[in-house]
Amino acid sequence: MRYIIPDISKVVLLLTQLGGLKMEETLLMIPGPTKVAPRVLKAMSEAIINHRSAEFAEILTETNEMMSEIFQTDNPSYTITGSGTAAMEAAAGNILNKGDKILNIVGGKFGERFMQIAKAHGGVPIELKVEWGTAVNPEDVKNILDENEDIKAVTIVHNETSTGVTNPIEEVGNVLKDYDALYVVDTVSSLGGDDVAVDDYNIDICVTGSQKCLAAPPGMAAVTVSDDAWNWIDKVESSSYYLDIRKYRKYASNEPSETPFTPSISLMYAMREALDVIMEEGLESRIKRHKLAAEATKNGVKAIGLDLFADEEVSSATVTAINMPEDVTDKDMRGTMRDKYGIVLAGGQDHLKGNVFRIGHMGNVTYKDIVTTISALEMTLKGLGFDVELGKGVGAVADTYLASKKF
Ligand SMILES: *Cc1c(COP(=O)(O)O)cnc(C)c1O
Repeated sequence: MRYIIPDISKVVLLLTQLGGLKMEETLLMIPGPTKVAPRVLKAMSEAIINHRSAEFAEILTETNEMMSEIFQTDNPSYTITGSGTAAMEAAAGNILNKGDKILNIVGGKFGERFMQIAKAHGGVPIELKVEWGTAVNPEDVKNILDENEDIKAVTIVHNETSTGVTNPIEEVGNVLKDYDALYVVDTVSSLGGDDVAVDDYNIDICVTGSQKCLAAPPGMAAVTVSDDAWNWIDKVESSSYYLDIRKYRKYASNEPSETPFTPSISLMYAMREALDVIMEEGLESRIKRHKLAAEATKNGVKAIGLDLFADEEVSSATVTAINMPEDVTDKDMRGTMRDKYGIVLAGGQDHLKGNVFRIGHMGNVTYKDIVTTISALEMTLKGLGFDVELGKGVGAVADTYLASKKF
């Protein structure tokens, strides 16, 4: 028997290179967290300062003002240290007295979450069940409101990340104009990537998170609140201490402006930088870029011969859910994409686990990311024995981009 003794320095070099490949070249095509620009990462390494200082107040105020601009509202916005769910909880925990009825529109994982949060804060949910993969019919919302005059609020998820569906928040907002119920919208995976006009859509409370289309690191959330909602909130006993939104309003109005508790200062630096990036690109251009990426992704996967999970006319601008082809496991498909091609896709959630996979195309997503992903998807499926004509999906992506005047 012969042993080959490896040259240890070569082994170390190889390992370093492999490590480097993993860190640098993995393409994150999931619906959050998304790729963060180097200048945003760099902002996080700035010195920690006193959070009750004029210097920090300026950063806080600027960030909150930019948030209102992105929400497209004249109402004030507040940043909260916590993930997107914290903002959902801030919404539900400040508008419900024990036993208040709330209408929750549930067509996926996040709609369900909003209902559970409402319940945790004493609300009595009325669930409007929407088949996963489809959008809510605004007429159904109207009917339930007519039958239940005492509904205090309606929650809806704009972009249901678990199914890749966009709900018609403008149309539902039109319905709600004729009712007293507060309109509460989760735009965690759409704000900065799809149309969200809080004032035009009659939205009372809108929530979002940092790590999706805004392309900041995870850990920050934001909420904006209308005058109607404030009138209501002032009459309700908040069921949360940390997320009592009145504290955020009060401290923001201090001189200098503050947050009630110590915020993640580093994340606030990153948030401001990420919002600056959005302002530089322009919100409108950014949304167009997302819509084009979604169109290219859908055309690419369809050209490969795969089926979309969501109804196409309501499919998301920021995440595409695709039916897992028969005869392949999620482990093989997404595993090959990740390990062989360095591209991370998301799986399905709950009963969609193993049956659906999702391509996130949100944040700083570019043509290069889409074409690489679709190319790797072709190679993966071919490698797993599917009859795939290489280049078809990639061609459809290229055609989509070339046909667009926005590109
Ligand atoms: C990601 C997401 C959230 C919040 O999730 P966190 O993990 O708490 O940031 C809420 N709603 C939707 C639609 C989301 O996509």
